[in-house]
Amino acid sequence: MADASSRVVVVGAGHGGSNAVAFLRQYGWPGEILLVGDEPILPYHRPPLSKAWLKGEATAESLALRPADFYPKQRVTLRLGTRVEAIDRAAKALRLADGESLAYDHLILATGARARRIPLPGADAPHVLTLRNAADADALKAAIGPGKRVVVIGAGWIGLEVAASARALGAEACVLEAQDRVLARVASPGLSAFVDAAHRAHGVDLRLKVGVEAIEAGAVRLADGSRVPADLVLLGVGAAAEDSLARTCGLAEPTGGIRVDHNACTADPAIHAIGDCTIRPLPGGATGRLESVPSATEQAKAAAAHLCGKPAPAPEVPWFWSDQYELRIQVAGLAQGAARAVTRLRTTDKLSVFHLDAMGRVQAVEAVSSAPDFMAGKRLIGLGKPVDAAALADPAQPLAALAVG
Ligand SMILES: Cc1cc2nc3c(=O)[nH]c(=O)nc-3n(C[C@H](O)[C@H](O)[C@H](O)COP(=O)(O)OP(=O)(O)OC[C@H]3O[C@@H](n4cnc5c(N)ncnc54)[C@H](O)[C@@H]3O)c2cc1C
Repeated sequence: MADASSRVVVVGAGHGGSNAVAFLRQYGWPGEILLVGDEPILPYHRPPLSKAWLKGEATAESLALRPADFYPKQRVTLRLGTRVEAIDRAAKALRLADGESLAYDHLILATGARARRIPLPGADAPHVLTLRNAADADALKAAIGPGKRVVVIGAGWIGLEVAASARALGAEACVLEAQDRVLARVASPGLSAFVDAAHRAHGVDLRLKVGVEAIEAGAVRLADGSRVPADLVLLGVGAAAEDSLARTCGLAEPTGGIRVDHNACTADPAIHAIGDCTIRPLPGGATGRLESVPSATEQAKAAAAHLCGKPAPAPEVPWFWSDQYELRIQVAGLAQGAARAVTRLRTTDKLSVFHLDAMGRVQAVEAVSSAPDFMAGKRLIGLGKPVDAAALADPAQPLAALAVG
């Protein structure tokens, strides 16, 4: 059990890291806590970078996850602008970029993810950007303006959010997607179709099933030889686990990511890992990566509870949100592998789709601007009981009464 001389070092001062230090104190960690991050600013909310921040609707203060005085008040030593280069597991020490050695008794890795790049000719030109952190967002914000031609490669969450923000800023937006629908990896066909229609209605030039051959000065060249004019290009082709530090000490999986259990423990008893850098248990016994604020927060809580000898918090239903135009998209659970989809609500500006497993239990809900259906769906997933699908499909039937059996 920890005593006042035990030191926890948390590497990565993002959502997971900042929450981990807060939970550690909340659960009574008696010793020293250090939070080390390579970005030069206080831990901040990342989701607004593609939304409110990009549109100029958020202030720097509102981005901060916690006020500056939170850390000294909680006796957390912040080391910002400090990159950790390597982990020596045998010596229980970190090597910092300036050569300093930093000892730990327990380590929490919260190093997040990095935007993927693609090996396209021209992809490293200065007008080709990615979006992962505040510096990236500032570069993007400076480049987008009225009349600018923004080309987004990849119709995933971040690419579509940037396209929506670009339209709000008066820019032209073209989204190029190799698959036959938007959000193909993360949404059901019903939600994809709804989001697709919203973007087209807002004037986005959305092109599906297109191959990109090269990025040139002023244009993106497609596989059919045509060119899409571009003042700037955003690569929105997903993120890879930022596991380079874990790789220095043999804790990263060959295919990427740090494998953890439900307590966020890695294969090394002195090291926990949380957030986007992990491969974690998923509902239904599977494992995989979840890139979301709620997942990073849940794992931060689990790691802190484990270190402080508290009971493991109950597993939470995974969920995610995205804001595009006036739409608030909320997804709970994982729809992959569902036996059937039940649409409860579909209007021009609202949608709710429930995904049932073979036993008739709700395994996922996708809702657009329909918070009550989202909340009820999330509760039904947690309940794990079969529901009456006919009643689910009828908006006149109250969702609260739906769990049967
Ligand atoms: C533009 C954007 C929009 C998003 N929108 C949403 C949304 O709407 N809803 C949602 O749920 N999720 C959203 N996400 C995802 C969400 O932000 C992440 O899931 C969450 O930030 C993960 O937290 P984390 O602590 O694992 O990683 P991060 O918050 O990325 O923090 C990791 C930190 O570790 C630092 N680091 C890495 N390596 C080192 C090292 N060697 N030494 C020191 N520091 C290091 C990084 O620089 C970074 O500061 C969005 C992400 C982005 C980029």
